[in-house]
Amino acid sequence: MQGICLDCGMSFSEDTRYCPKCDNALEHQHDGSTITVDIAHDGERVSEALRKMQSEIDMARKGVAANIRLVVGSGLIRDEVLLALRDLEFRGDVKDFDLEPTNAGTVLVRLK
Ligand SMILES: [Zn+2]
Repeated sequence: MQGICLDCGMSFSEDTRYCPKCDNALEHQHDGSTITVDIAHDGERVSEALRKMQSEIDMARKGVAANIRLVVGSGLIRDEVLLALRDLEFRGDVKDFDLEPTNAGTVLVRLK
């Protein structure tokens, strides 16, 4: 898989952390976009929703999006997702996160 440096347009292989041309820290580059993923409305159990969240976040961190919106509903999945995100934030895997003020069933996670 290849990526493109958003600063200079140079392409690089996935395991490169700095742009070979302009030295930009590639893992911090983003295009300001937000990905929305529903992890709670397909009959998922809590463990399935958490796995889905983790793989979506892993994938999104390799891409260029700045944020990921997790649609978590209002039940147990939301509580567990918030706990898991606290852990990811502590480890530095995500920058921060918050329930959306206008929609408490959705968590906005800042990745970069
Ligand atoms: Zn570059």
